[in-house]
Amino acid sequence: MGAWTRLALHWKILIGLVLGIVAGLAINAMWTQETWASLGVNDPAAFVGGVDLGEGGANAGAGFGAHTALWVRDANSFVGDLFIRGLRLIAVPIVIFSLIVGASSLNDLAKLSRIGGKTIGIYLVTTAVSITVGLVLANLLRPGSFVNEETRDSFVSSFGAQAQAKIDAAAAPDGWATLLNIVPTNPFGAIAEGNMLQIVFASLLVGIALTLIEREKAEPVIKFFDAMTDVVIKIVHIVLMLAPYAVFALICEQIAELGLDILGSLAVYSLVVVLGLGMMMFVVYPFVLRLFTPIGFGRFFRAMSPAQLLAFSSASSSATLPVTMECAEERLGVKEEVSSFVLPIGATINMDGTALYQGVAAVFIAQLYAMDLTVMDQLKIVLTATLASIGTAGVPGVGMIMLVIVLQSVGIPLSGIAVILGVDRILDMCRTSCNVTGDAMVCAVVASTEGALRSPEEVDRRMAHALDEDPVEDGPIVRD
Ligand code: ASP
Repeated sequence: MGAWTRLALHWKILIGLVLGIVAGLAINAMWTQETWASLGVNDPAAFVGGVDLGEGGANAGAGFGAHTALWVRDANSFVGDLFIRGLRLIAVPIVIFSLIVGASSLNDLAKLSRIGGKTIGIYLVTTAVSITVGLVLANLLRPGSFVNEETRDSFVSSFGAQAQAKIDAAAAPDGWATLLNIVPTNPFGAIAEGNMLQIVFASLLVGIALTLIEREKAEPVIKFFDAMTDVVIKIVHIVLMLAPYAVFALICEQIAELGLDILGSLAVYSLVVVLGLGMMMFVVYPFVLRLFTPIGFGRFFRAMSPAQLLAFSSASSSATLPVTMECAEERLGVKEEVSSFVLPIGATINMDGTALYQGVAAVFIAQLYAMDLTVMDQLKIVLTATLASIGTAGVPGVGMIMLVIVLQSVGIPLSGIAVILGVDRILDMCRTSCNVTGDAMVCAVVASTEGALRSPEEVDRRMAHALDEDPVEDGPIVRD
């Protein structure tokens, strides 16, 4: 086995990430108008977009070098998209199978409702804490005072149209309808649409019902779903083998497009968001873990780092879900009956990073427009951002759409969205990582308080056993 094969998964992903950032920056710096012109491309936007490749157009003279660059870019996004598709492919089945098995093994309705109440309660509290951290930092560090009126207006005019599209897409969530919508009218429809809360609800019902029918009848069904859970987990391992390369491809593509120019004028704002996310991930979560679980800081991060890095690269907590579950179960030692319930719900309703970002963004935009926010306004932001983050789907960029609702609630000018649009993707990557870490933290707390956490020795034993049995395993899930 080569050194690369033996390397632990999170190191491989980290190497992919760093190389991807370096390559992305290099591409961004290299591909200036002159570089394209020297390769015979006169209209890069049309060329890169795949238009105007034919004869006689502005880019008719495009040479071999230009075509190679285009091919590399397409191959890169192919690898990234292939990986995300692979993860999406297993997100719904893994939740259904493992939740049915988990709920049926609990065999105790009172325990199930206690876990449910705890999960949702802790999710809400951590989200509110997260926005408060964001609001405090933004009020103290005043990122808005680092952007002058001229820069603000130039952003508004260049990103205005894109911002309007986000504003148009926003719709205030209706509390009753959202609650009602958890119950699917057609479970197969819910599966087809990938509606996670509906899927969780239907799978829970099946799991509970299995405990209420005759044992002999239930047994083969549970065995079937148990085996299917193993099948899906095996597929997660196979997909994960692509992770380091896919992370390289995803990051490289994003950074090559974005560059760091825009970051310059929004650096302070971006730093405040990142500082807040860092405080949640490295101070608040470890503190809560310490209070309620025997899991140490290092062990938690080593176990969850593949999921955190993937969340960062994909900016999607839903796409990361299968990996979050895998890390929580196999590497952290959370039993399936808790993880299969807490994590899918978390990927849908718990968005600490998104909520923090919305708090900072709201105060930042208010500062840009010299608007004073009263304590009452800020409390309103805490409430709406908590609700908005629940209504935020775990896919890239949605946090910004829900920001519209937060801004509207206190009358902050929506045109401010245009100012922060340029750095949204990079901040989305950071906040998604925090979202996923928050889900895993709550999962560990619930598991620990419910006696559903394996000891580190047992985790090691299970992992060693899996390695002995499984030839695919030595790639992705290598012990630290
Ligand atoms: N991308 C985030 C997530 O998937 C949601 C958001 O803040 O846009 O968790």
